[in-house]
Amino acid sequence: MQVQRVVLNSRPGTNGVPVPENFRLEEITLVPDLKDGEVLVRTLYLSVDPYMRCRMNEDSGAEYLTSWQLSECLDGGGVGVVQTSRCRTFTEGDVVTSFNWPWQTQAIVKGNALKKVDPQLADGHLSYFLGAVGLTGLTALLGIREKGNVTKGADQTMVVSGAAGACGSLAGQIGRLDGCARVVGICGSDEKCKTLKEDLGFSAAVNYRREDVAVRLKESCPDGVDVYFDNVGGPISDAVISQMNHCGHVVLCGQISQYNKDVPYPPPLSEQTEEILQSRSITRERFVVLSYMSKAEAGLCELSQWIKSGQIKVLETVVSGIENIGGAFCSMMAGGNIGKQIVKI
Ligand code: NDP
Repeated sequence: MQVQRVVLNSRPGTNGVPVPENFRLEEITLVPDLKDGEVLVRTLYLSVDPYMRCRMNEDSGAEYLTSWQLSECLDGGGVGVVQTSRCRTFTEGDVVTSFNWPWQTQAIVKGNALKKVDPQLADGHLSYFLGAVGLTGLTALLGIREKGNVTKGADQTMVVSGAAGACGSLAGQIGRLDGCARVVGICGSDEKCKTLKEDLGFSAAVNYRREDVAVRLKESCPDGVDVYFDNVGGPISDAVISQMNHCGHVVLCGQISQYNKDVPYPPPLSEQTEEILQSRSITRERFVVLSYMSKAEAGLCELSQWIKSGQIKVLETVVSGIENIGGAFCSMMAGGNIGKQIVKI
C-alpha cells in the first residue's frame, strides 16, 4: 500500500527559526506484513509541540529527548485506530495513542509502544488525547499541583505566560478551579486576550507584543503575584518575577522564547532575577511531566470530569493534511495557534 510520511529535510541551524522547508513529504510503499507483537495503525491526529524544536538540532540538549535524524520519518504524539493486529492486547477498531507515533498516514508499530484509550474519556473528541486529556493537560494539572502550592481560600494571584496556548489555557482554568482568587494571562494578540477573558474565565489578560507587561501586571495584580506558571521565560518572565510576593512559587514549565537559541535548558536567568528569587524565597524548581507518570491515570480522570462537566473549556487550532504538519509546527512556534495545535490526517 502507498502511504505518505514526513521526514526531516534539514535542520534550522544554530539559533535558527524553523521553516516549513525543514520538513519533506514522501510517498513510500508499506508492505503490511506484520510480525508477532506488531500492529498496523491508521493515523487520525498528530501533535506538534515546542519540545520538537530541540529534536531538530543535531544534539537535542536534553537527556530525555533524542534528536531527529535527517531523511528519517519523524515522530511525536499521535492518535489513531488499529487496522490489523498481531499483538494480543489490541484488536481492529481500537483507538490507540503513542508518544512516538510516526508522522505517517498508516504505519506498522510495536504494540508495546501503544496505549489503548477509551474515547469516552475525551467526550468523543479523539484529538483531546494529544492535548487536554493527554500530556498537555497533565503538564498543566501536575505542574500546578506539584510546584504551584495553590491553596483554596488563600486569596492567591496566579500569572500564566503563553496563556492562550495548549498548556497555558488549561493551567489558567485549573488555577481558578483549584482556588486562585485571580488568574492573569500573558499572550501574543488581542484576539487571544479576548478569548482568555471572555471564554476561559481569566480575570485579565496582557498582550505582550503591544502592551508594557510590567505596567499592565501592576494594574491587574494589585496584591502582587503568588504563583507564576511559566511557559516562555526571557524578559516576560523577568517582568513577572519582579512582581512576585515573598514565598511565591514559579512553575518552571517551559521557556519557549529561548528554544530557537542554542542555550542549555533551563536557560540562565539574569543576575537581577536570580537575586529576586533568593531574597524573596521564591521557589523555581524544574518541572518535567514525564517524571510524574505514576499520577497520570488519576490526573487524566480529573481532567476528563472537568471537560465533560464544562468546567474546563478546550481550545484547539486544527490544520488538515499530513503535508501541512511542518507548517503547523512552525506556525505554533510563532504563535499562530489558540489552544492546542493539532494536525488532522
Ligand atoms: P503552546 O500551545 O503554548 O504554543 C506555543 C506558544 O508559545 C505560541 O502559541 C506562542 O503564543 C508562544 N510563544 C512563542 N514564542 C514566544 C516568545 N518568544 N515569547 C512569548 N511567547 C511565545 O505550546 P504548549 O502548550 O505545547 O507548550 C507550552 C510550554 O510548555 C512550552 O514552553 C513547552 O516546552 C512546555 N511544556 C513543558 C512540559 C513539561 O513537562 N515541563 C510538557 C509540555 C510542554 P503567543 O501568541 O502568546 O506568543
